[in-house]
Amino acid sequence: MVVVIGFEGSANKLGVGIVKDGIVLSNPRHTYITPPGQGFLPKDTAKHHREHALDVLQKALDEANISPDEIDVIAYTKGPGMGAPLVSTAIVARTVAQLWRKPMIAVNHCIGHIEMGRLITGAVNPTVLYVSGGNTQVIAYSQRRYRIFGETIDIAVGNCLDRFARVLKLSNDPSPGYNIEQLAKKGKKFLELPYVVKGMDVSFSGLLSFIEERAPQLLEKGEYSPEDLCFSLQETVFAMLIEITERAMAHCGSEEVLIVGGVGCNKRLQAMMEVMAQERGAKLYATDERFCIDNGAMIAQAGWEMYRSGQTTPLKETSCTQRFRTDEVEVTWRS
Ligand code: MG
Repeated sequence: MVVVIGFEGSANKLGVGIVKDGIVLSNPRHTYITPPGQGFLPKDTAKHHREHALDVLQKALDEANISPDEIDVIAYTKGPGMGAPLVSTAIVARTVAQLWRKPMIAVNHCIGHIEMGRLITGAVNPTVLYVSGGNTQVIAYSQRRYRIFGETIDIAVGNCLDRFARVLKLSNDPSPGYNIEQLAKKGKKFLELPYVVKGMDVSFSGLLSFIEERAPQLLEKGEYSPEDLCFSLQETVFAMLIEITERAMAHCGSEEVLIVGGVGCNKRLQAMMEVMAQERGAKLYATDERFCIDNGAMIAQAGWEMYRSGQTTPLKETSCTQRFRTDEVEVTWRS
């Protein structure tokens, strides 16, 4: 029996989760929400994490009904992510590891998403679409690595959506992407936008500039409603993602596709992926907001896999890094 506590704080969610042999015992989270029209800055986000760290940690222990001496290992997000929030969260993890005299394990955030998705859905060897505010990658496992088959060459798809939400001054509560999704459901008129797929990669920054520049005029003239623009943006960026995911599945002969990351709980993205999967005779796996949005349990779960395969991270190596690619980690827990 192995009990792992995981600390996540690479972006604007602070999460602490406890996992015991494939069972999520607790997974509380606190999200830093900025006013409409504003993004979250590293310094302020780190302050949020520091302010809420002890509360969220206590909640995780209480909900799991577990005491520190029952915990075997402390997992934390090493990266990728925003520097200051990563460091604030890692300091909490290092502090409790020393207070409780427990080993630590440094986890790649992207791998946390993949392992959480596999645990919750039961997908065995899926092609993974990882889509969030900071990451956009198509990933598949091969020879002890999660290999990146395609990715964004500039901004993440979630960042594209978040920044368009700022143009429309949409609320960031619970997330800008959620509010875009709700408006998009009422969109009727499609605006053609740049569709940028380059081989296996995608690009969103030109598309974002295009719609950012034109939106104020189109809205003012009444040619398009905010709902129409949200609809057009979602349809375009999701189609790009489905295209590269399908190509990776064809290459790998994959019969499973798993969507993870914060954008992964978007129902329209899931529906579009389902159509593609069905046409290929493949099965779609997705999770809801509890598990696809950044959380502590996903770090605990990846840590659990790593720990069981013999890995730990010496205290003096428990640093953070803003850049940490998915394929840098040797996957010692899969055959
Ligand atoms: Mg994430």
